[in-house]
Amino acid sequence: MAEPAVRRIRQSHEGPRNPESDNGFNLHAPASGLDGPIQMNTPNEGNERGEEVSENERYDAIIVGAGVIGSAIAFELAKKGWRTLNVDKLPASGYGSTSNSCAIVRAHYSTFDGVAMAYEGFSYWKDWSTYLDSEDERGHALYMQSGTVLFMLEGGHHEKVLPLFDQVGVPYEVLTNEELRERYPFYEHGTHGEPCRPEDDRFWAEPEGELVGALFTPDSGYVSDPQLASHNLQRAAEAKGGEFRFNTEVADVRRADGRVAGITLSDGTEVDAPVVVNVAGPHSFVINKMAGVYDSMNIKTKALRHEVHHVPSPAGIDFEADGLHSSDSDLAIYVRPESGNNILIGSEDPACDPQVWVDDPDDYDTVVSDEQWNAQVLRLARRMPELGVPSEKKGIVDLYDVSDDWIPIYDRTDLDGFYVAIGSSGNQFKNAPVAAYCMAELIEAVEGGHDHDAEPLVVTGVHTGLEMDMGFYRRNREINPNSSFSVNG
Ligand SMILES: Cc1cc2nc3c(=O)[nH]c(=O)nc-3n(C[C@H](O)[C@H](O)[C@H](O)COP(=O)(O)OP(=O)(O)OC[C@H]3O[C@@H](n4cnc5c(N)ncnc54)[C@H](O)[C@@H]3O)c2cc1C
Repeated sequence: MAEPAVRRIRQSHEGPRNPESDNGFNLHAPASGLDGPIQMNTPNEGNERGEEVSENERYDAIIVGAGVIGSAIAFELAKKGWRTLNVDKLPASGYGSTSNSCAIVRAHYSTFDGVAMAYEGFSYWKDWSTYLDSEDERGHALYMQSGTVLFMLEGGHHEKVLPLFDQVGVPYEVLTNEELRERYPFYEHGTHGEPCRPEDDRFWAEPEGELVGALFTPDSGYVSDPQLASHNLQRAAEAKGGEFRFNTEVADVRRADGRVAGITLSDGTEVDAPVVVNVAGPHSFVINKMAGVYDSMNIKTKALRHEVHHVPSPAGIDFEADGLHSSDSDLAIYVRPESGNNILIGSEDPACDPQVWVDDPDDYDTVVSDEQWNAQVLRLARRMPELGVPSEKKGIVDLYDVSDDWIPIYDRTDLDGFYVAIGSSGNQFKNAPVAAYCMAELIEAVEGGHDHDAEPLVVTGVHTGLEMDMGFYRRNREINPNSSFSVNG
């Protein structure tokens, strides 16, 4: 097989590479503002070339959004010595879609690259406090390493996943139904054919067959509090000099001389930076339109409404202690333990469920619907016959930022200096730290002159040594036919 056209660039931990910049900014000038106030240019003082410089505040990089991925990118850039500013219109970090994330950490993606990045990502969560290297007055989020079972059925997702686990080196066990029963006696093993809705008579039919066992991954689990994880990253970035501004809305992305020049806030304030990163979650398409790059991207993003429900564990079962993250493609749901001995139920987006695409991410129905509550809770009741169906609906509604193939876009854009970490498609919370590491490598390489479009960057994982081909996430890829086209990525 031909070698992919990639240039291998390895991370040095010795500090910034200080590439010579020809864009008028010294990106890696020892960040004089790191321990002190923001460096303001004196109005019309001029630079050493005698040119007038802007009166605006200036940073090395502005990050639009302070969710878990935006905050992690700030941390990774700040560690390299970049002066970063995160701007978020909400009151605190992780208050956007991150706050309602199920924060499940698992490796069963549909592609080698998806599995490799997720597996590299496990190590960050397992040693979260060491990674953060800083205190947070609210404490650190906990990684609940419950393990995952992916139920196996004829023709199921595991057939794709197992060879990828072997290639990547993800530890796993294959459980027979008997072993599954011994470990997790609360699960039934019936299979029910193509997922359908409770309105369909077929939903109530006897099981058609049996699972062929389950794929257990011991290293996976979930993060106790996704908003706190984002706050941890904010504090970690701040400890390295990063700044955050909340209740502040980006109204425009400005360009000058053919590259990005900075942002304009909704109150008219301009802030300059030679690098702007769009990490706006479900608002990513809005920011891309502001920057004028939306049309030039082959892969687009859009916002999808998603419901997650919480039900009490059946009597006599301590699912919070004994349960685990379970992925059930037979019934098109995933579950994990939720605090208060509840079970959290999410959907794997089966074709029979209506997809609610949202044109305005600031205006959508945030009330749990009777129809989806019934569908998801009754689906779980098929797997867990002891489950009661409470009359009171409990859950959350939020938005996925879905790309055309449910694989994220971690890339530069056609506008020099404008980068995107978007299209997280309901499955990138887990990858926030590793994706941020890769984004920081990519930004540094491209700003240093590397032609990522011609020679996609390969980033070596610091924990596993796995090579992550950033070309996989490029904006101008063709839709990836290997994707599950669902939250499984
Ligand atoms: C219901 C749900 C369940 C999920 N479950 C999982 C899971 O189990 N595992 C997993 O790995 N992933 C999961 N995900 C996906 C994961 O949560 C997201 O990929 C991740 O949180 C995205 O982080 P982010 O920083 O990119 O975006 P966000 O957290 O959405 O942050 C974007 C920020 O940008 C800000 N912003 C937008 N526009 C502007 C503007 N004009 N000016 C200023 N600020 C702006 C917003 O206020 C927001 O705070 C789930 C997502 C949802 C919605």
